[in-house]
Amino acid sequence: MRVISLKSGTGYLAPFLLLIIGVFAAPSLTPKILEYRVILTLLPYVLLIFVTLLALHFNVGRMLVMTVVLLFCYWLLQGTWNRGAASQLVRLLSILLPINFAIIALCPDRGVRSMLSYALTSLVVLEVALAIGLINSLEHPFWQLYQLSLMDFLYTPAVALSQFTVLTTAVAGLVILTSWLFTRNSFNLLLLLALLAMALVLNQADVFAQRLINFSILSVAMLTSLLFYSHNMAYRDELTGLRGRRALNEYLSRMGRHYVIAMLDVDRFKKFNDTYGHDMGDHVLRMVGAQLANVSGGGKAFRYGGEEFAIVFNRKQLAQVKPHLEVVREMIADYPMKIRSQSRPKDKKEGRKLRSKDELDKEVRVTVSIGAAERLVPLKLPEQVIKAADQALYQAKRKGRNRVCVN
Ligand code: GH3
Ligand code: MG
Ligand code: MG
Repeated sequence: MRVISLKSGTGYLAPFLLLIIGVFAAPSLTPKILEYRVILTLLPYVLLIFVTLLALHFNVGRMLVMTVVLLFCYWLLQGTWNRGAASQLVRLLSILLPINFAIIALCPDRGVRSMLSYALTSLVVLEVALAIGLINSLEHPFWQLYQLSLMDFLYTPAVALSQFTVLTTAVAGLVILTSWLFTRNSFNLLLLLALLAMALVLNQADVFAQRLINFSILSVAMLTSLLFYSHNMAYRDELTGLRGRRALNEYLSRMGRHYVIAMLDVDRFKKFNDTYGHDMGDHVLRMVGAQLANVSGGGKAFRYGGEEFAIVFNRKQLAQVKPHLEVVREMIADYPMKIRSQSRPKDKKEGRKLRSKDELDKEVRVTVSIGAAERLVPLKLPEQVIKAADQALYQAKRKGRNRVCVN
């Protein structure tokens, strides 16, 4: 499983707020912005090209498609293309962009050279062809559909976009939001941001300041996301989502004089893997990781490697930490792991029938042993504390496992 989270959810609040502020700030900023128009026009191009290169580098297919769409859109709106059809262009974009963002939200995360990115790219090319066709045939029923009034009671002069557009945007927003609720992949929040940014731009398509501000905010948000993504790739463990060994070393190098390190190892894990399969083993590691992520007492959890984990309690002493370790140990031992039989029927319906009778699934428990040590005068270096914690862990194993020992 790939770590697909680009950035934590709350980090997106700032760009959303900035977009809203931008709507009110754009008119007063306009004279200043126009003074430097020639140079400022280039800013979104530079930022978006930078995003494109990073998306290519980090191999994030959906981000690549998104930024190429935005680049194309910005270029079109700059009026380089057929000025006469500007209003039709804005109308088309106001319908097509939300649809595209919703489609991207529903696609899984794949690399740049996947079938998926080719399919998305073909879709965009198809849309361009469609758009050219529509602009050249103003009698087409689409244009009547675009002007359809459905919700006159909602009319406000602040919204220049047609009601059909508002509806499309709202539905796309719902699709993206639902996808976010299900996957918790914060790339969806970026799409939501793009949806809002583009709606605001197209609503005032002739205001350069609005375009500049929105495209820039969006590009910077995408850039930040990609930087977080690369940081995650280096510091987070893919399987459990916990911080990895590299992050542990970095964290320990910043440690003060008082801290406790606990080493944790899954009991008889080899046997578990042999009995239930490697995939179930991975499930166990994910479950353990999830429990450790919520450790109380101010502990920070890391995946040390394989089925071993470490928890660091900064500015704590052994006696303070031990109850929290017992809680974690118990939480894991009490967790019902559902085992799926490997002889599950191929036919899904039959499988469901059997499962409902509890004939296929059973529950097992997994335990962990924990060893902890604190930094005291003879143990000055983090490596020494880890070694002492390891010895305590060995003791826990020898005493019968599923217990906490301290050194
Ligand atoms: P003990 O109680 O003494 O710790 O016994 P154990 O079987 O857990 O110890 P051992 O170190 O012999 O086995 C560790 C096993 O963990 C070996 C390997 O198959 C499994 N393992 C390590 N990393 C992973 C992983 O990422 N996924 C899965 N499924 N298994 C892993
Ligand atoms: Mg081990
Ligand atoms: Mg083990």
